Amino acid sequence: MQRLEERIRREGKVKADGVLKVDSFLNHQMDMAFLGELAQEFYRLFGDCGVTKILTIEASGIGIACMTAQAFGVPALFAKKTKTKNIAGEVYTSQVASFTHGVSYDIMVSKEFLRPGDRVLMIDDFLANGNALLGLAELVKNAGAGLIGAGIVIEKTFQPGGEKLRRQGIRVESLARIRSMSVERGVEFY
Ligand code: 5GP
Repeated sequence: MQRLEERIRREGKVKADGVLKVDSFLNHQMDMAFLGELAQEFYRLFGDCGVTKILTIEASGIGIACMTAQAFGVPALFAKKTKTKNIAGEVYTSQVASFTHGVSYDIMVSKEFLRPGDRVLMIDDFLANGNALLGLAELVKNAGAGLIGAGIVIEKTFQPGGEKLRRQGIRVESLARIRSMSVERGVEFY
């Protein structure tokens, strides 16, 4: 998406640890009108797939997931990061290794909100090593729900997440695909 790439070029800050900061419109301050445009693009891509639920992971995916859910007219559900592994069998859980924080944590959703009949579109802000999305995909599988695919705002294709997911047969659509990035040269897209 041209407008997204322009915005990343203009406002994104590449950090030495391989992290891109887009705090001015996505990860800290959120430009809701712009996120609405991104959500419309997800709707253009997945609108005919019978999606019943948008699933993301707290916290940075929630903003774009909410806008996307509004575009689809379905609920947004976010997996919670939790320390308690199981709450009396009332939740689905899986484990995620965090890219930005370098630790593993459990995520969970209530069985009340993720049902076998659901058709789930996963939405996230970034795709890096793919652990967050694979964790979400496992929750969907555990629930016996259908996985429609993943909508990603920014995919860093020099990390293996996209390939891992696609190899598992998951449809991944990314609105901006970064080929490489560095502090000196900034961001290069496909
Ligand atoms: P993965 O599980 O694919 O390695 O990482 C996905 C999660 O890590 C995303 O939900 C996002 O919160 C965070 N993340 C990964 N790479 C970046 C990055 O370059 N910038 C920011 N702001 N977050 C990132």
